Amino acid sequence: MYTVVEICLSLGGDTTKISIIYDNELYIKNIGLKSDWGFACLLETGEATILFDTGAKGTILLSNMKQLDIDPATIDKIVISHEHWDHNGGLKALASVISDVNLYRLGNKSPSENMHLISVEGPQRIMEGVYTTGRLTGSVDEQSLVLKGKKGWYVLVGCSHPGVEEILYIAKQYGDITGLVGGFHDFNSFPVLKKLDFICPCHCTKYKHEIKKCYPKEYIPCGVGQMIEI
Ligand SMILES: [Zn+2]
Ligand SMILES: [Zn+2]
Repeated sequence: MYTVVEICLSLGGDTTKISIIYDNELYIKNIGLKSDWGFACLLETGEATILFDTGAKGTILLSNMKQLDIDPATIDKIVISHEHWDHNGGLKALASVISDVNLYRLGNKSPSENMHLISVEGPQRIMEGVYTTGRLTGSVDEQSLVLKGKKGWYVLVGCSHPGVEEILYIAKQYGDITGLVGGFHDFNSFPVLKKLDFICPCHCTKYKHEIKKCYPKEYIPCGVGQMIEI
Protein backbone atom coordinates (compact mmCIF):
# COMPACT_ATOMS: atom_id res chain seq x y z
CA MET A 1 0.00 0.00 0.00
CA TYR A 2 1.03 3.63 0.30
CA THR A 3 4.05 3.70 2.50
CA VAL A 4 5.97 6.02 0.21
CA VAL A 5 7.36 8.77 2.36
CA GLU A 6 7.45 11.71 0.04
CA ILE A 7 8.85 14.11 2.53
CA CYS A 8 11.65 12.78 4.63
CA LEU A 9 13.57 14.99 6.93
CA SER A 10 15.79 12.12 7.82
CA LEU A 11 15.38 8.44 7.30
CA GLY A 12 16.89 5.77 9.47
CA GLY A 13 16.41 4.62 13.03
CA ASP A 14 14.61 6.56 15.71
CA THR A 15 12.35 8.51 13.44
CA THR A 16 8.71 9.08 14.21
CA LYS A 17 6.24 8.73 11.38
CA ILE A 18 3.24 11.06 11.29
CA SER A 19 0.40 9.91 9.02
CA ILE A 20 -2.56 12.17 8.34
CA ILE A 21 -5.64 9.96 8.38
CA TYR A 22 -8.50 12.48 8.65
CA ASP A 23 -8.48 15.93 7.15
CA ASN A 24 -10.57 18.41 5.18
CA GLU A 25 -8.40 17.67 2.15
CA LEU A 26 -6.95 14.65 0.39
CA TYR A 27 -3.21 14.34 -0.15
CA ILE A 28 -3.41 11.09 -2.10
CA LYS A 29 -6.30 10.93 -4.55
CA ASN A 30 -7.94 8.00 -6.34
CA ILE A 31 -7.19 5.22 -3.87
CA GLY A 32 -10.47 5.45 -1.98
CA LEU A 33 -9.38 7.81 0.80
CA LYS A 34 -12.04 10.23 1.98
CA SER A 35 -11.70 13.85 3.02
CA ASP A 36 -14.08 15.33 5.55
CA TRP A 37 -14.15 18.23 7.99
CA GLY A 38 -12.10 17.10 10.99
CA PHE A 39 -8.63 15.99 11.95
CA ALA A 40 -6.80 12.85 13.03
CA CYS A 41 -3.25 11.69 12.67
CA LEU A 42 -1.23 8.69 13.73
CA LEU A 43 2.23 8.80 15.31
CA GLU A 44 4.43 5.75 15.08
CA THR A 45 7.54 6.17 17.17
CA GLY A 46 8.86 2.63 16.88
CA GLU A 47 7.98 2.02 20.51
CA ALA A 48 4.35 3.04 20.49
CA THR A 49 1.53 4.02 18.18
CA ILE A 50 -0.42 7.08 19.24
CA LEU A 51 -3.62 8.32 17.63
CA PHE A 52 -4.01 12.09 17.91
CA ASP A 53 -7.68 13.00 17.45
CA THR A 54 -10.25 10.85 15.69
CA GLY A 55 -11.99 13.08 13.14
CA ALA A 56 -15.75 13.56 13.03
CA LYS A 57 -17.10 10.28 11.72
CA GLY A 58 -15.99 6.83 12.80
CA THR A 59 -16.87 5.26 9.45
CA ILE A 60 -14.56 7.61 7.55
CA LEU A 61 -11.78 7.25 10.14
CA LEU A 62 -11.83 3.45 9.94
CA SER A 63 -12.17 3.41 6.18
CA ASN A 64 -9.16 5.72 5.74
CA MET A 65 -7.12 3.60 8.16
CA LYS A 66 -7.97 0.50 6.15
CA GLN A 67 -6.97 2.16 2.87
CA LEU A 68 -3.67 3.23 4.43
CA ASP A 69 -3.04 -0.28 5.79
CA ILE A 70 -3.18 0.86 9.41
CA ASP A 71 -4.49 -1.74 11.85
CA PRO A 72 -6.42 -0.01 14.68
CA ALA A 73 -5.41 -2.85 17.01
CA THR A 74 -1.84 -1.52 16.93
CA ILE A 75 -2.87 1.75 18.64
CA ASP A 76 -1.49 2.00 22.20
CA LYS A 77 -2.62 5.48 23.17
CA ILE A 78 -5.21 7.99 22.04
CA VAL A 79 -4.91 11.71 22.65
CA ILE A 80 -7.87 14.03 22.05
CA SER A 81 -6.74 17.61 21.52
CA HIS A 82 -10.06 19.14 22.52
CA GLU A 83 -13.69 18.23 22.89
CA HIS A 84 -15.07 19.30 19.55
CA TRP A 85 -17.07 16.83 17.45
CA ASP A 86 -14.66 17.05 14.53
CA HIS A 87 -11.83 15.74 16.79
CA ASN A 88 -13.52 13.29 19.14
CA GLY A 89 -16.34 12.06 16.86
CA GLY A 90 -14.56 8.85 15.84
CA LEU A 91 -13.88 7.62 19.40
CA LYS A 92 -16.92 5.39 19.77
CA ALA A 93 -16.34 3.57 16.51
CA LEU A 94 -12.79 2.78 17.59
CA ALA A 95 -13.87 1.09 20.81
CA SER A 96 -14.74 -2.21 19.15
CA VAL A 97 -11.63 -2.46 16.99
CA ILE A 98 -8.85 -1.44 19.36
CA SER A 99 -7.14 -3.28 22.19
CA ASP A 100 -6.62 -1.71 25.62
CA VAL A 101 -5.43 1.88 25.26
CA ASN A 102 -4.80 4.88 27.45
CA LEU A 103 -7.05 7.78 26.51
CA TYR A 104 -5.64 11.25 27.26
CA ARG A 105 -8.33 13.92 27.11
CA LEU A 106 -9.45 17.14 28.75
CA GLY A 107 -12.57 15.53 30.03
CA ASN A 108 -13.66 12.94 32.50
CA LYS A 109 -15.45 10.38 30.37
CA SER A 110 -14.31 7.31 28.54
CA PRO A 111 -16.62 5.88 25.88
CA SER A 112 -15.64 2.27 26.63
CA GLU A 113 -13.95 -0.02 29.13
CA ASN A 114 -10.92 -0.68 26.95
CA MET A 115 -10.12 3.04 26.83
CA HIS A 116 -8.49 3.85 30.15
CA LEU A 117 -9.10 7.50 30.88
CA ILE A 118 -6.24 9.77 31.84
CA SER A 119 -7.81 13.13 32.52
CA VAL A 120 -5.23 15.72 31.47
CA GLU A 121 -4.74 18.99 33.32
CA GLY A 122 -1.04 19.83 33.61
CA PRO A 123 1.76 19.00 31.18
CA GLN A 124 2.74 15.35 31.24
CA ARG A 125 4.83 12.71 29.56
CA ILE A 126 2.93 10.42 27.21
CA MET A 127 6.11 8.45 26.53
CA GLU A 128 9.79 9.18 26.00
CA GLY A 129 9.96 12.03 23.47
CA VAL A 130 6.20 12.69 23.42
CA TYR A 131 4.66 15.18 25.85
CA THR A 132 1.35 16.97 26.20
CA THR A 133 1.35 20.68 26.94
CA GLY A 134 -1.54 20.01 29.30
CA ARG A 135 -4.69 22.11 29.27
CA LEU A 136 -4.19 25.42 27.49
CA THR A 137 -7.06 27.83 27.82
CA GLY A 138 -8.68 29.50 24.84
CA SER A 139 -12.06 29.98 23.23
CA VAL A 140 -12.03 26.21 23.72
CA ASP A 141 -9.46 24.56 26.00
CA GLU A 142 -7.03 22.36 24.16
CA GLN A 143 -3.89 20.26 24.62
CA SER A 144 -1.11 19.97 22.05
CA LEU A 145 1.61 17.36 21.72
CA VAL A 146 5.31 18.15 21.66
CA LEU A 147 7.39 15.53 19.87
CA LYS A 148 11.10 15.00 19.67
CA GLY A 149 12.21 14.57 16.09
CA LYS A 150 15.71 14.11 14.71
CA LYS A 151 16.07 17.80 13.90
CA GLY A 152 14.39 19.24 16.96
CA TRP A 153 10.95 19.49 18.51
CA TYR A 154 7.68 19.38 16.63
CA VAL A 155 4.31 20.57 17.85
CA LEU A 156 1.13 18.80 16.89
CA VAL A 157 -2.08 20.83 17.25
CA GLY A 158 -5.79 20.13 16.79
CA CYS A 159 -7.45 23.49 16.04
CA SER A 160 -5.11 25.85 17.95
CA HIS A 161 -8.03 27.48 19.77
CA PRO A 162 -5.67 28.78 22.51
CA GLY A 163 -3.64 30.49 19.73
CA VAL A 164 -0.64 29.32 17.72
CA GLU A 165 1.67 31.84 19.35
CA GLU A 166 0.65 30.81 22.86
CA ILE A 167 1.00 27.11 22.03
CA LEU A 168 4.48 27.61 20.57
CA TYR A 169 5.50 29.64 23.61
CA ILE A 170 4.50 26.84 25.99
CA ALA A 171 5.99 24.14 23.77
CA LYS A 172 9.36 25.95 23.71
CA GLN A 173 9.94 24.80 27.27
CA TYR A 174 10.89 21.42 25.85
CA GLY A 175 13.46 22.83 23.43
CA ASP A 176 13.74 24.70 20.16
CA ILE A 177 10.67 24.14 18.04
CA THR A 178 11.41 23.32 14.43
CA GLY A 179 8.02 22.14 13.14
CA LEU A 180 4.29 22.67 13.50
CA VAL A 181 1.59 20.33 12.20
CA GLY A 182 -2.21 20.53 12.52
CA GLY A 183 -5.09 22.99 12.43
CA PHE A 184 -4.11 26.64 12.90
CA HIS A 185 -7.70 27.92 12.74
CA ASP A 186 -7.78 31.65 11.86
CA PHE A 187 -4.15 32.31 12.81
CA ASN A 188 -2.73 35.19 10.76
CA SER A 189 0.31 36.48 12.68
CA PHE A 190 2.58 34.88 10.11
CA PRO A 191 5.94 36.22 11.44
CA VAL A 192 5.40 34.00 14.51
CA LEU A 193 6.34 31.05 12.28
CA LYS A 194 9.62 32.48 11.05
CA LYS A 195 11.91 30.29 13.12
CA LEU A 196 10.27 27.07 11.98
CA ASP A 197 11.60 25.04 9.09
CA PHE A 198 8.61 22.75 8.82
CA ILE A 199 5.10 24.19 8.61
CA CYS A 200 2.23 21.85 7.82
CA PRO A 201 -1.14 23.62 8.18
CA CYS A 202 -4.10 21.23 8.15
CA HIS A 203 -7.81 20.98 8.74
CA CYS A 204 -9.36 24.32 9.81
CA THR A 205 -6.37 26.53 8.85
CA LYS A 206 -7.98 29.54 7.21
CA TYR A 207 -4.90 31.11 5.65
CA LYS A 208 -3.06 28.17 4.04
CA HIS A 209 -2.33 30.12 0.84
CA GLU A 210 -0.90 33.07 2.73
CA ILE A 211 1.27 30.80 4.88
CA LYS A 212 2.53 29.07 1.75
CA LYS A 213 3.32 32.45 0.20
CA CYS A 214 5.27 33.58 3.27
CA TYR A 215 7.11 30.29 3.74
CA PRO A 216 7.27 28.46 0.41
CA LYS A 217 10.25 26.31 1.38
CA GLU A 218 8.99 25.42 4.82
CA TYR A 219 5.41 24.76 3.75
CA ILE A 220 4.36 21.09 3.73
CA PRO A 221 0.95 20.29 2.25
CA CYS A 222 -1.44 18.42 4.53
CA GLY A 223 -4.23 16.03 3.56
CA VAL A 224 -5.33 12.45 4.11
CA GLY A 225 -2.53 10.13 3.08
CA GLN A 226 0.32 12.54 3.81
CA MET A 227 3.11 10.79 5.71
CA ILE A 228 5.95 12.66 7.27
CA GLU A 229 9.03 11.36 9.06
CA ILE A 230 10.51 13.53 11.75
ZN1 LIG B 1 -11.48 21.27 14.32
ZN1 LIG C 1 -12.07 22.92 17.41
